Order: sequence, then C-alpha cells, then structure tokens
Amino acid sequence: MKERVILHCDANSFFASVEVANNPQYEGKPVAVAGNPEKRTGIILTKNHIAKKYGIETGEVIWKAKSKCPNLICLSPHYRLYEEYSKKLKNIYERYTDRVESFGIDECWLDVTDSLKFFGNEKQLADRIRNDVKNELNITISVGVSFCKLFAKLGSDLKKPDATTIISKENFKNIIYPLPINAIIGIGRRLEIKYNKIGVSRLGDIINIPDNILKKKFGKLGIELKEKLLGIDNDEVKPCDCFVPPKSIGNGTTTITDIYSRKEIIGTVSMLSNEISTRLRYQNFNASGVSVTLKTATFQYFHQTNKFDFATNSQSHIINTVMNTIDSFWQYNIPIRAIRICVYNLSNAKQTQQCMFSNIIKDTSLNLAIDKIRSKYGYHSISPAISINNNYIDIDRLKA
Ligand SMILES: [Mg+2]
Repeated sequence: MKERVILHCDANSFFASVEVANNPQYEGKPVAVAGNPEKRTGIILTKNHIAKKYGIETGEVIWKAKSKCPNLICLSPHYRLYEEYSKKLKNIYERYTDRVESFGIDECWLDVTDSLKFFGNEKQLADRIRNDVKNELNITISVGVSFCKLFAKLGSDLKKPDATTIISKENFKNIIYPLPINAIIGIGRRLEIKYNKIGVSRLGDIINIPDNILKKKFGKLGIELKEKLLGIDNDEVKPCDCFVPPKSIGNGTTTITDIYSRKEIIGTVSMLSNEISTRLRYQNFNASGVSVTLKTATFQYFHQTNKFDFATNSQSHIINTVMNTIDSFWQYNIPIRAIRICVYNLSNAKQTQQCMFSNIIKDTSLNLAIDKIRSKYGYHSISPAISINNNYIDIDRLKA
C-alpha cells in the first residue's frame, strides 16, 4: 500500500487569535477569552501566546490570571465568529484535498496523499497551507505531518505557534516514544494512573507491555493504541462530504446560585431539554435514552441514566423522563451547582416508527410551530414559561 501523507492542522489559541484578528488594537498584547466573572463563570477559556508567557492557564479564574499579568485583556466569547473562522479554515484546506475531516472547531485532518504531486513535497505543502491561513485570516496554525492520523495529531502539538512538524517512519520512535502518556487525547487523569500502575509513564513504555495485560486492563482499545504506537494505524481521514452522525447530544449548565428545590431544578432541566430537543429536531434525530448528572456545591457528582418509552425528540418527554429519573434518587436537600443532560442512542427521526398516542402528535405539532417561530424570529423569541427567570447559564457552550 502506498504510504499515506496526512496533515493535522490545529489553529493556535483559536478563540483569542480570532479576537485579535478582528480587533487589531489588541495586536501584540496579552489577550484571553473568558467567561463573565459576575456569573461565577469568570474563568480563562483560552489565551494568546503572549498571555501564555505570563504563565496564565486555561481554566484559571480571571482575578488570578490578572495577578500574574495586570494588563491582560479579557474578552467575552463570540461563538458565531469562531464558527465563521472555522468554516473559512476548512475552505482553505479543501483547496488542497477533498479529504478533510474536522476534529472540534479548530482542528482538521487532511489526507493529501493523492494531491501532493501538485504541490511539491509534504513540508512545502504544509508550509503553503500555513501561509495561506496567515495571509488570508491573520491567524496561525500548527501542522503535524505523518503517515497516520495519530502521529500527525501529536505532531501538531509539538511546535507552536505557526510551525510544521514532520513525523516519519524513520523518526517517529525518537519523537513519539518519550512523550508523556497523557499527550494522547482521551487519556485523562484516571487512565493515566491506571497506566502508571503497570509501569507506563511515557508512550514508548506501552510497546513493552504484553498484549494480554493491555487487553485485561484497557480492553480492545489498549491493544489498538499499542499497534498505533508501533506505526500500524489505518484510520482513514473521512471525505469532506462524509456526515458522521453524533452518538449523543448533551447540554449542561452551572447555575448562577446554588439551587435546592424541585421547582428550581425543573426550570433548569426544562431550559436544557428545550435546546436538546431543538437540536434533535434540526438534525432529524430521535433519542432512546437520557442521562442526567447533578454536581453539588461541594463538587460531588451524581449520575443516572434512563430509557424513553419510545424514541423521541419531544421536549416534554425529555423533561418528564429526566425529572422522573431525578425524583427516583434525589432528596432535594443538597445544594446543586450544575446540571447536565445528555440524550443518546440516536436514530433517524424519519425512519422511526411514530407513536400514535394523541399527546405525542399534539406535542409534535407544538414543536413544529415553535421551530417555525424560531426560524423567523430567532432561537430566544420563544421559550417555555417554566424556564423564565431561572438560573440558567449556558456554560457548556463556553467550553465547546
Ligand atoms: Mg487549537
């Protein structure tokens, strides 16, 4: 098989860079995008490379960041703008190949194996794309170049900002194996501890662990990761027009003040379900199950799942099922700080057999009417009465 050439393009400090690109007065200054301090979401979401030099970290509260860098410019996020830039980035990538797969808002893999011959060697092509982005959008990207997706992604993390890193069959062991185990996305603190227990702290340590131990501790994924680290990785870059259906749709919020009562909780659940239901309908999905997570004021988590009686995208059905679930395990006597709801087992709404209960048909007509009003006057033009004046803040959007 012909050796593939895969690029992973990752925009540097994306939100902060887009803000600076749109506000030239901030050029050369330390800039961070942050939540609103008055709503206790005052945390740094992202910062530019100048702010990074002051030791400012993502997730840090604003006052702490400002104590390190008093001149730090803190801006509110503008998600529409970031989405626009995300599309513009993708348009640039698509000039070079039709195999462009998005990963989050600011990262893409490009399989340029077949188009490379038109643009010189892989380094020249990566540099050319970086220059296009810089000249046209006034932001920078880092590019990892390799023969597989995993190494290309790890490569784009190695040099920042505005750099190209090549990881070849010849040098991958020297570059990848010394990296810490958590350099791989998806290996969080819990998995890291599990790997540490079997003597793995660097990626290269994994290849010395026998398959049977990896399988026992980490299942199929443990073996797959070892194979990838040996350079055996045939994961394909999906073509531009390939639609990958989501596995779940979730929405969560941190409340402005702690909430206790069922009435307060149902208000927040209603608001979250309203958006989930709308997103399901817009994407033509029904869901068969739902999970709810309550985070208490002392940062304890309580999690329960439940199944819907039938596949649905109805807001009232989601609210009722979530509240029945919460009622089944919650005493309403502990302060709650955050709620998250996630629907899963998604299926095509057009192909799902319609349930013939009359209240569902009524509900569907109501939702269609709501969607019509929103398409004309905007999402917030109509909301469920129960959710008015509640404690809802869409913090999860901030973290997207
Ligand atoms: Mg990035």
